[in-house]
Formats: sequence, structure tokens, C-alpha cells
Amino acid sequence: MAESESGEWDEFLLRYPGIIVSGCNARGTVKLKDKWYRLKVTCPHFPKLQDARLELHLPQQIKFTKIKNEDLATDWTLFDVMENLPQLQEKYCDAPSPKAKNIEINKCNIYSEIAALYAPQDYQLELNDACTLLRFSKFAEHHQHYLQLELPALRITEHSLPDCVPWEEHLQKYDNLSAMVQQFRNYLQDLQPFYENFTDIDELCYVVQPTPPVSTKHNWRLFVLRERVFIKLVLSDPFAPISSMSVQIIGPTQAVEELRRTLSNGLSEWDAELDIHKNLLRIFDICYFPMPPGSGWLEAEGVVNATEQKFCNICYSYQLEQGEIPIVSCDNPQCTLIYHAACLKEWFNTLTNGKDFLSVSFGTCPFCKTKLSTSFAELLVN
Ligand SMILES: [Zn+2]
Ligand SMILES: [Zn+2]
Repeated sequence: MAESESGEWDEFLLRYPGIIVSGCNARGTVKLKDKWYRLKVTCPHFPKLQDARLELHLPQQIKFTKIKNEDLATDWTLFDVMENLPQLQEKYCDAPSPKAKNIEINKCNIYSEIAALYAPQDYQLELNDACTLLRFSKFAEHHQHYLQLELPALRITEHSLPDCVPWEEHLQKYDNLSAMVQQFRNYLQDLQPFYENFTDIDELCYVVQPTPPVSTKHNWRLFVLRERVFIKLVLSDPFAPISSMSVQIIGPTQAVEELRRTLSNGLSEWDAELDIHKNLLRIFDICYFPMPPGSGWLEAEGVVNATEQKFCNICYSYQLEQGEIPIVSCDNPQCTLIYHAACLKEWFNTLTNGKDFLSVSFGTCPFCKTKLSTSFAELLVN
């Protein structure tokens, strides 16, 4: 019986040499009119199509597609199917698969939601060609801000809010687009004091870190107070900028000790009506902070030295790859050399008598051998 069956397939195999037969199953490739077709066939009553199962591989599909019996003429044999493969393929390529239809329906819902969110006076709304990314930008009164979502999952892929808060977690709680966008806009409103406190510092101080350009995502600034002395300002809770504020002075120990006293005395007289920049000017009893080189303020007395670009005495460069500039000074008033935090940390690591205690590292100046201590963890954060 088996022999006669395989004998029946002989003519078929002769005509379609790319097909392999095993029992009543056949699979392989055929070439018809210069086009290739891949198929899988189960044909227990060869060549009759009774109880047969036909699957065709369609272009750009991963899986084989089952050919429905109603698409085969009742008087066809498997030979007729083979002759009609081009028409069958055409037919199945035109009809969308049920899965594709579902995606269409989902997309339609999101599209109507997107259309409802069209509000050019409030923000700019962009959708990419593949309809997989939706971007809100240029929010009214908050032009630098943006929010980008992946569709249809509504996963946040980019945003402009400060890095120190897990915004994705907060925003992902909203499962519909308009609620999510509304909440984002509420945040922008709530964060106004946070951003306003940085405005004057960015415009009227010599901010050396984060590496310019500073973005809306940064919640800290390191700027020049005087020669070899820097202020590091961190607003760790963007919703409560003043109560979460920390002001750190970085420079030679002697200068830092004196300035720290001035600062702690001044903090008790903080004027809530003024921003951080003006309060700090008042505390340090100065009219302005040193401005960046080339800003036209250099002629002012005492400012030239403060903003002069002093290279690092370990690597002899000014700016490192990430933009870091030298900010750690030697404590010896006769030495006054300055180093990149990263370079000095590396130097401390080579010292046999160098050590770390809690977050403070101890070592010596590479030139005058004066003992130095510094907290690299705080200085190296960018
Ligand atoms: Zn260096
Ligand atoms: Zn030194």
C-alpha cells in the first residue's frame, strides 16, 4: 500500500523537484513563471484534495498561512493547486490577517485620542511615519520641555524632567494618553519655582558643571565663587527646591572654612521673597558672581583671576572628555595648584599612604606633598 502511494507521488515529484515527500506530507519550494513559492501539504488521498491541508508561505510573513478549503475549486487535484499557486498567493496577500486587523483597531483608538489632543497653542505634537512614536514638545511657557511615548504601549521613551525623580513610574500609572499628558503639564507647572531658581545662576554665574549646555534634566550646578573656590548647589527635591537645597563650598580648606561660617550665618536670614541667586549674593556680600570668560565682565577687578582657565597639574589639560574642569585645589597657600577630581583620585590610588574613610579620601598633593582630603564621590557626579 505504502509503495503504491509513493508511486502515485512519482509524477508529482518529477514535475516539482523542489518538493520532498514523506508519507502523505509534502513540503518544499516550487518555481512557477520565474517566481518561487514555499508550501507545506498534507494530502492523504493524493492527488484528491479530500481532507487535505495546504499551507503557503507568503512574502514578508514569518509563519505559513493556511489556505481555506473554500478557496479551492471542488474538482481540483493537488496538481491544479500547484498551477494556481500564483493566484492563491495574490489572494492571501491582499487579505489582512486577523492579527493585523486587531492592531488596526487598536491604532484607530489611539489615533482618535491623538486627534483629540491636538492643541497647537499648548504644545507641538508629532507622530513619526511608522506611527510608533508620539512626541510632545515646545510646551507653552515651558519651551524646552518634551515628552516622547512609544505607541501603542504608551511607554515613555524620552522626557525633559529632572533626572532625580522616577517620572516614568509616576506617569506610567495613567493608562490613557490624555491623562498622562495632563499630568506632565501639571508637573511643569509645579516645577516652575525649581527652574526659576536656576535661571539667574545659569545667566549670571560661571557654571562649570554639569558640562554645558545645562539641560532641564539637571538638578544641580557647580559655579565659580572666587579664584579656585566653587559653589555646588543641589536641589534634591524639585517640588521643594528651597527646603531640599544643599550648598557646598569647594576649594582650599582655609578659604572653605571661612566661607562655610559666612554661609551658615547667612542661611538663618534667608529671604523667601528672593531667589537662591540673590540670597547667595547677599550672604557672601557681593554684587555679582564671576561671569564666564568672554562675557565682557572680565575687566572687573578680581574677576579675571577667578575665571582664568587654570589647567590641571596632573594631566596638563583644562577640559576632560566629559567637560570636567579642574576644581580641587592644594591646601598649601604657597602651592595653589589645582587638579581635576578624576586625576587627583587616580593619583591618590597610586599612593601607599592614601586611604579612604567613609566617603572622604586622603592623600597628598603630587607637587608639594601637603596632606589633602577630599570627597570625590560628590565632585565626580555629573
Ligand atoms: Zn587632569
Ligand atoms: Zn600642593
